[in-house]
Amino acid sequence: MQNLLHNLNPEQLAAVTLPPQSALILAGAGSGKTRVLTTRIAWLIQTGQVSPAGIMAVTFTNKAAKEMLTRLSAMLPVSTRGMWIGTFHGLCNRFLRTHYRDAALPQTFQILDSQDQLSMIKRLLKANNVDDEKYPAKNLMYFINNAKDQGLRANRVEAHDPIERKMVELYELYDNQCQREGVVDFAELLLRAYELLQRNQPLREHYQARFKHILVDEFQDTNDLQYNLLKLLAGQGQQVAGALFAVGDDDQSIYAFRGANVGNMSAFEREFRVENLIKLEQNYRSHGHILDSANHLIANNSKRLGKNLRTDAGHGEPVRIYEASSDLEEAQWIIEEAKSLMAEGSLRREIAILYRSNAQSRVIEHALFAAGLPYIVYGGQRYFQRAEVKHAIAYLQLMDNPHNDSAFLRVVNFPTRGIGMRSIEALQAAAEQQGISLYAAVPYVAGKSGSSLNSFVKLVEGARFETQQLALPEMVRVVLEASGLLLHYQNEKEGADRIENLEQMVNAATQFVQEEGFGQGAPAYLGPRTHASAGELLVEGDGVEIIDADTPLNIVMSPLSAFLSHASLEAGDAQAQAGQDALQLMTVHSAKGLEFDAVFITGLEEGLFPHESSSREMDGVDEERRLMYVAITRARKRLYMSFTQTRMLHGQTRYNMKSRFFNELPEEALKWLSPRVQSHWFGNKKSAWDDAKFSGGSDNKIAQQIAQKAASNGPGWRIGESVAHAKFGEGVIVNIEGGGSNARAQINFGKAGMKVLDLSVAKLERV
Ligand code: ATP
Ligand code: MG
Repeated sequence: MQNLLHNLNPEQLAAVTLPPQSALILAGAGSGKTRVLTTRIAWLIQTGQVSPAGIMAVTFTNKAAKEMLTRLSAMLPVSTRGMWIGTFHGLCNRFLRTHYRDAALPQTFQILDSQDQLSMIKRLLKANNVDDEKYPAKNLMYFINNAKDQGLRANRVEAHDPIERKMVELYELYDNQCQREGVVDFAELLLRAYELLQRNQPLREHYQARFKHILVDEFQDTNDLQYNLLKLLAGQGQQVAGALFAVGDDDQSIYAFRGANVGNMSAFEREFRVENLIKLEQNYRSHGHILDSANHLIANNSKRLGKNLRTDAGHGEPVRIYEASSDLEEAQWIIEEAKSLMAEGSLRREIAILYRSNAQSRVIEHALFAAGLPYIVYGGQRYFQRAEVKHAIAYLQLMDNPHNDSAFLRVVNFPTRGIGMRSIEALQAAAEQQGISLYAAVPYVAGKSGSSLNSFVKLVEGARFETQQLALPEMVRVVLEASGLLLHYQNEKEGADRIENLEQMVNAATQFVQEEGFGQGAPAYLGPRTHASAGELLVEGDGVEIIDADTPLNIVMSPLSAFLSHASLEAGDAQAQAGQDALQLMTVHSAKGLEFDAVFITGLEEGLFPHESSSREMDGVDEERRLMYVAITRARKRLYMSFTQTRMLHGQTRYNMKSRFFNELPEEALKWLSPRVQSHWFGNKKSAWDDAKFSGGSDNKIAQQIAQKAASNGPGWRIGESVAHAKFGEGVIVNIEGGGSNARAQINFGKAGMKVLDLSVAKLERV
């Protein structure tokens, strides 16, 4: 035990060893919150206060859950298997698999990822003749998810106008359709679990009694439904109450756009009458200049719960800031810097490159690829989201649940087998009329369409029959063949990569079966469960026995179902293979909770970071600032920030000002690597050229470029002139910079807003 506790400071020690009551650990980045949470679990078990099965811990990503389990296995001599450690979604999935009957789900229910959810909503709109201009599918998806995140079914959503009334109606139809297909979306996983616990008292009490300790990391980013779920499980105010131990940092609340409610922290404090509020203020992660930068920046936010961070590490290196001429040049600079870090002995996996939007990664990836540097993209085009992999997954889904319409539609004619739009429309009409799935509706379609659809059904059933006794990896292999996918890509010109990805799935299945503790040769399918369902509690003496989270996985979930859930749920996580040494690319959002020796924060430009959408939302810039705070505090020793003068994004060249966040950093912690260009775009006091000229030529390339741009003055356009643009309408030029092919103008298009356009490209007319 000495070992467990001796690396903690006094506040951390106090937090780890708190009595079994509700507690809130409120602390800044890198202060050891996650470490405290993990150590507390180990301490509780080691001191005999709870068995592993009495622990539930919620992490923000699957990767974090895995890491926590690995740490615990190293700290404890006992097996960690009985613990419930995972994300809200992962845990709810497990819960619903166990109690699928009570949750009114088929045993093989499947999880829709957001892509499938969107396409399902599009189909729903079409089937109901809803004008998708008036009710865009994305809006409806947001509306539905938002309602679910608040715990509201369609019949409880208040509609304020006809549009909303229609949305509510569609929400109801959507839920019915999901039920018919045996699929659930992400928000549904949580809502179902919540509703089941709420209405089923014996079940609720069972879990309340079981989970003596519920520990939640990143508590600031829980949404209302998650908080309510925790309240139910912790049995707030009841005898059986489990202790809820929450750790979080209000300054790192960055998921408001997904319904996260930082107010849950104060609600928790109030509703659970939290007496144990501990603040941790010692930062163990970052060197001084980095930490100062983070503290300075976040001080610009109002509405903070208030806490500080200090470090005993010295100032360390200054934060390096670089202004690039373009996104291409920014990428080159990153590569040069990363190379020199590596030459000094840095590991590749200890270098992270962060960006605000996924779209920014392409240029960086391209440059890394060209430079021959291995890299991993987190949350980008993930393995399970690639087209060919999604196709294979769809076939596997049909093996387990042929009523999943999304899966059916994805592959009914892929590889092509002569099933055209007409046949599909006839099938959809039949399914709609009968109120059944597409698969089930096939016999209702007559003629040639009917027979070609029927041969697809035969293919699916044949493959299912053939794979009945096989273990998961073999099954995957057979399905890849039987579906015709492998053959299809063999005949495709650039199919080699895709085939490799498909074959990779056999390995993924092998690894999965091993890691999840399914027997090596265990059949992929699960027969109908013969054990008691949760509704049929077996009462023994005064105790209640139940199929619950302790029940071995292979009883509640088949290897196939488990693997398919993994493919849907894991999609949000890194595709990194453990131990692989590669540069780490990710959005700032997905960097939460992680740390690296060196971090690059790229694209620090107005409109990009802070993101332009933030100006439209209340508290928007504050949220972006918290995001920036998260980004800065990922770095241990080295921090780089960059911005560019021009950037291609979504097919348009953009000319952005440097981010306002630079003005919020402490000057003494910074080192500017390039000619310091003070807002060279609008209303500059000193020209960029002056700066570049006097910078001692540290970066003459940029100086020259700027000089070239300034040399001639536009192709005859004048400030104040009225112009017309095909897309944006009429506007007035408010500023011009550069000349020749580099000339660009800032134009106020009134309704369409302010735009910066390339004068050599934009088709403008004089008005
Ligand atoms: P974040 O807010 O980013 O999630 P956190 O508060 O969860 O950060 P941890 O990740 O737990 O912080 O800890 C940050 C780093 O500091 C880790 O590398 C951790 O091992 C280290 N650390 C935490 N406490 C101590 C300690 N008492 N002594 C030495 N190192 C520590
Ligand atoms: Mg943490």
